[in-house]
This record gives sequence, C-alpha cells and structure tokens, in this order.
Amino acid sequence: MVMEKTLILIKHDAVSRGLIGRIITRFENTGLKIIAMKMIWADKSLAENHYFLDEEWAKNVYEKTKKTREASGEPFPFKDPIAYGKMIQSWNMEFLQEGPVVAMVLEGPHAVEIARKMVGSTEPRQSAPGTIRGDFAMIESYALANDKSRVLRNLVHASDSTENAKREIALWFSESEIHSYKKELDKHF
Ligand code: ADP
Repeated sequence: MVMEKTLILIKHDAVSRGLIGRIITRFENTGLKIIAMKMIWADKSLAENHYFLDEEWAKNVYEKTKKTREASGEPFPFKDPIAYGKMIQSWNMEFLQEGPVVAMVLEGPHAVEIARKMVGSTEPRQSAPGTIRGDFAMIESYALANDKSRVLRNLVHASDSTENAKREIALWFSESEIHSYKKELDKHF
C-alpha cells in the first residue's frame, strides 16, 4: 500500500523547548499532508493505551539498548527483557503525562517510512544530522537517560508500522477530527 497514514506526536520536551513550528515545517516540507492536528495533555488511560506493554516491543527495546551500551563499553546490568521493557513503559507513561503534546496525522505515499526517516534513531546520539532528533537533541543518550532513571527525551514519536499507525490514530483522534482535502501535489498521485 503506497498511500499511508501515520501518527506523529511532538512530545512535551519539544513543546517546552519551543520547537513545535520548526518540527511541523520539516514534516510539511516532505510533501506529506497534515490531515489532523491538535494539542492534547494525555491522561493515564491514554498514556497506557499508547505505550501498552507488548512483549515484542519490550524485547526490542532491551536488545537495542543493550547493544548500544555494550558497544560503548558502558554497563548494562539488566537481565530480564520484559522487566526492562516494563520499566521503560512506565517512564514513557510518566513522560507522556508531563505536559501537553501536539498530535498530528500525516498522509501520503510511504508516510510511515518517511516520517521515521525524518525523526531519526531512537537514541538521539545515534541520529544522523539532518534528522529531527539529530539536529535538536544529539547530546541525549541511553547513558544519560538510564543513569537518571528517565526516558530518552527524543522530541518526537512516529508510528513504526502501518498497523500500529492505524491503532494509534484511532487512539488519539476521532473520525470527525480527521480531514480529507486536496493539495497541489495530489494530482500527481
Ligand atoms: P522509537 O520512538 O524510536 O520508535 P521505541 O518504540 O523503541 O522507539 O521506544 C519508545 C520510546 O521509549 C522512545 O522514543 C524513547 O523515548 C523511550 N525509550 C526507548 N528505549 C529507552 C531506554 N533504553 N531508555 C530510556 N528511554 C527509552
């Protein structure tokens, strides 16, 4: 499926640093269409549903973090991927309730892949210059975050698959908040 929708959250660290406009501009520049947008302060139930504990996700977060920390010669004393995932999930839930975020839905060809590319790696330290995380948060790392028992403050969330995008969009927006309209580029699709 070439035409896709994806959910973007401009997380509260970006809102609080005054980066909303600059981040939206980057997504607009790709040619993807903003079809829904609002500022929203998540409650516990929304935070829990957004970051629900999925075993695959927990294992993936554990492996990504372990690999990075060990490659840098840093300690990674955790043994249980699920327990580690649970800890990250609870930090994520806290962070999502810290203050309002800007939620939006982007639509267009390959929207999921393009938005993830624009955002960069999970750890801003590994994000390439030119990506949102690389340009605005490169000093942030697993080492800093985990030593302070907090989440990576990496500015933006972007859905990682079309299936997750569908689930996440339904969580953050009602049908009536999602708009259908034409843009200049549409005549070429
Ligand atoms: P992404 O946001 O790049 O898709 P994940 O889905 O793997 O990343 O993780 C969700 C969020 O959890 C990340 O954006 C980040 O804020 C946080 N996170 C992931 N791993 C860690 C970790 N080891 N330490 C702190 N925060 C983490």
